[in-house]
Amino acid sequence: MRVAVPSETVDGERRVAVSPDSIPRLKSLGAEVCVQAGAGVEASFPDTSLKDAGAQITPDLASCLTGADLICKVQPPSLAEAKALPQGSALISFLPTSTPVALLNILVKRRITAFSFELVPRISRAQAMDALSSQASIGGYKAVLMGADRLGKIMPLQMTAAGTIPPARVLVLGAGVAGLQAIATARRLGAVVEAYDVRTAVREEVRSLGATFVELELQAQEGEGGYAREQSEEFLAKQRELIGQRVQQSDLVVTTAAIPGRRSPLLVTKEMVEGMREGSVLVDLAAEGGGNCELTVAGEEVVVHGVRIVGLRNLPAMVASTSSSMFARNVAAVCAHLIKAGELVLDLEDEITKASCAIHNGEIRNERMREAAMEDAGGS
Ligand code: NAD
Repeated sequence: MRVAVPSETVDGERRVAVSPDSIPRLKSLGAEVCVQAGAGVEASFPDTSLKDAGAQITPDLASCLTGADLICKVQPPSLAEAKALPQGSALISFLPTSTPVALLNILVKRRITAFSFELVPRISRAQAMDALSSQASIGGYKAVLMGADRLGKIMPLQMTAAGTIPPARVLVLGAGVAGLQAIATARRLGAVVEAYDVRTAVREEVRSLGATFVELELQAQEGEGGYAREQSEEFLAKQRELIGQRVQQSDLVVTTAAIPGRRSPLLVTKEMVEGMREGSVLVDLAAEGGGNCELTVAGEEVVVHGVRIVGLRNLPAMVASTSSSMFARNVAAVCAHLIKAGELVLDLEDEITKASCAIHNGEIRNERMREAAMEDAGGS
């Protein structure tokens, strides 16, 4: 059983799917681990640290993939990388349901068995495999640090001989995994924090972190599996009306609201930004999914009416060492689930394997992925 870990090639991706800690775990499953030279450098895992942990370092992608049974990556492969995957091998990586049909077709043709982190079910048994959570949590942490760094104010209350400085006010919209970590981080920095989520079930978690849960006189539609459901346009309009004043009173707004597989809801309008104080900052963690703020430009920072709106992508990659360590643990947990006595065993009756196996035997197994691929093929 040969597990291969290639270098990531997407722009700005500094993470890697393996760490010095995960290698002994993979080897204990009966696997040999091959890592492409330099793959861990940007995550502060130099080749020597991975070699010392028991990995073989291979000079390039081709030698890394030669004879590989299982390929572990952070990002989905590029088209060229997918073409280089050994026929019939298995792949574990992020692979969204919106994966372009061109990539799916190559994976299908090469009879790759593809496991998607987006499809790992959010049940307690699969918690160790939940890369969406491990990475979202780092994203929430980094969003607050970026916001704090861009503010012209300090976060904590300061009582000095030169007078009293009030604490910064932080508003977090969406209190899922990223939002809760953003709340905790802003509190640690001494800010006064408020948060809102359509799932009122998170009210107690928000309070236990020392933040105020914003109560809106609104009845949200309940979702399933711990996720929020897409709300009506009428609900969102009312939500914007009620939340507007809070946004304008905040020094830092962190938005994290998302609905799986849908465009992110619009929570902060252009008018709301215009009403914010000069020098305020909004960090939109939902930028990639369309943004929670009307003025967010995905991948960029813009200043509108003196308010800085940060729409940078892939915040976990900016904290590459910790995020890679956590991602590598998620990968090792999936491997421990799939590898038995040094062999990949595919039990499609098992709830976790069944849900997370997106492609197998030349077939797209996940329905949402199949539908998105058909739409993509129709449109292109
Ligand atoms: P997510 O990234 O899909 O969404 C982020 C947050 O945005 C969610 O809390 C959602 O309720 C909120 N949101 C959506 N529309 C909104 C709106 N209009 N206004 C305000 N907020 C809005 O979610 P996530 O963080 O990946 O996970 C959400 C929840 O899933 C978790 O908090 C948890 O309850 C559950 N979960 C369970 C497990 C597990 O059991 N293993 C693991 C992870 C997450």
